[in-house]
Amino acid sequence: MSRKGEKWIKHTWEFESTEDPYAIQSAPSGEAVCPQCKSVFKDKRWFIDEELAEELLEAENVPKLLCPGCRKALEKYAMGYLFISGDFWKTHQEDMMRLINNEVEKARGLNPLHQIISIYEEEDKTIIETTTDHLAERLGRALYKAYKGDLEFKWSKGEKLVRVYWKRD
Ligand SMILES: [Zn+2]
Repeated sequence: MSRKGEKWIKHTWEFESTEDPYAIQSAPSGEAVCPQCKSVFKDKRWFIDEELAEELLEAENVPKLLCPGCRKALEKYAMGYLFISGDFWKTHQEDMMRLINNEVEKARGLNPLHQIISIYEEEDKTIIETTTDHLAERLGRALYKAYKGDLEFKWSKGEKLVRVYWKRD
């Protein structure tokens, strides 16, 4: 992600202008770099640029601070939950995880705020917690698009927290 077209920048701005408390709080005055995920802060926004990240990590006068995505992940501030269930998951877990990881990378290319916080099993479900509602929704849609099954969204907290249910037997 070293080339940043006009379109890419517009997308980033859109997502960052949502009312996410973590996105609003984090406003370094100049450039900064996140030592955890290597996203960079420049021109008032966080984005992924590996080359620039390396440069900034080596620069002495650039603050190293956790980006909003990493802070949310650290504080386990989940805004999205993806519940995966059914027999299909058990037999296709590897492929599905590859798809999920690809989607996370794509979302992070738009805004590093999107991260998976944790993945765990509960009863007969696998649960993926995400830092943004957008990411859980995106992952659910990607699973549905690739593998069909049943997809359901449940919103709460003034539409800031989403539970996404994907199931295929
Ligand atoms: Zn980070």
